[in-house]
Amino acid sequence: MSDQKKLNIVNTTFLIALPIISLTALPIWLKSSSYSFNTVILAVVFYVLAQLSITAGYHRYFSHKAYDANPLVSLFFLCFGAAAFQGTALKWSQDHRRHHRFVDDIEKDPYSIKKGFMWAHILWLFYEGDKSYNPEEVPDLVKDKLVMFQHRHILKLSVFFAFVLPMLLGAIWGDALGGLFIAGALRLTINHHSTFFINSLAHTLGDQKFSNKHSSRDNFITAVLTFGEGYHNFHHEFPSDYRNGIRFFDFDPTKWLIAGLAKLKLASNLKTVDQEVIMKKMAIMAVINFESQCKAFKLLSLSKDHMMKVCGHLKSNVESTFKRLKDLKKARIITVSVNEKHKLSKQITKAKKEFDASCKLLFGMLKRFETKIEKEEQSA
Ligand SMILES: [Zn+2]
Ligand SMILES: [Zn+2]
Repeated sequence: MSDQKKLNIVNTTFLIALPIISLTALPIWLKSSSYSFNTVILAVVFYVLAQLSITAGYHRYFSHKAYDANPLVSLFFLCFGAAAFQGTALKWSQDHRRHHRFVDDIEKDPYSIKKGFMWAHILWLFYEGDKSYNPEEVPDLVKDKLVMFQHRHILKLSVFFAFVLPMLLGAIWGDALGGLFIAGALRLTINHHSTFFINSLAHTLGDQKFSNKHSSRDNFITAVLTFGEGYHNFHHEFPSDYRNGIRFFDFDPTKWLIAGLAKLKLASNLKTVDQEVIMKKMAIMAVINFESQCKAFKLLSLSKDHMMKVCGHLKSNVESTFKRLKDLKKARIITVSVNEKHKLSKQITKAKKEFDASCKLLFGMLKRFETKIEKEEQSA
């Protein structure tokens, strides 16, 4: 991969012009005589179908093989994935597998967040990527006849499913232009940026509950914007799991769709990571996150040493919590059963809460003490 990447004029023009055209067309269409609410519904339906074809199709099925899909489901994802105008499932998966393999590497991760938020979001698409695919990186997909068919005819398929089909459907109720500009262009702009947020926002905003070895983050807002892909820290740690949000209430419509397809016997072999393995990672990260808080706290306490004496009991409270955490960390190494790990994880959460509460109290007292000293100094 060379440092001097060539600008891809077609991609750049398309990605810049599309939102401009969409947003210009929107007010004109709203005032036009052909305006129909059916077109709004059409746009929402196309948005959902295209987005799920990317998240459940391009991402969790083609890139990660997190489950097996019926050929009809696969065909559906290839058609409506084309409607999301993000290239072929083959190339998308190749880029995405590289992203996982080399995450955060400035050279080898195609959309490395280390090159900046905007690079990861959209700028990487402005430059020429590899002209062709490497069969060694996608050996399973090159054997898939449907994937290869889509790869050969991607432009025709994308134009048809993204623009022509919504235009034809809009024409049924006399709103062909609404179909083209609203269910086509505007809907596609939103699809684009929903997907782009996975590479930008999901590597910027949120918690690291499963690993701090990569920049990925878990965040509810990103999950809402990306149909469940916002639980990205979990996903980077366990990419073969068909879920991204593992708790039943986590907003992950992609997971719900896959589970629904399995109920209808249209998907099978849904892969999940062993709960014990997940909990072990969570326990380790709880300790790491706790310790980093302690470090920050200790730095502050050094500079305010004299005040700490005043708040002696609170300081010892914090320190004993810290010690308990250390002991728990040691205990973690020797625990074996799921139940024990579950208990341990609960204890860590409890200790962390106690620590936070102690810090809050301590800082409150420090602040009051500082104010008192200031007043005393002023009156002296
Ligand atoms: Zn990522
Ligand atoms: Zn992934």
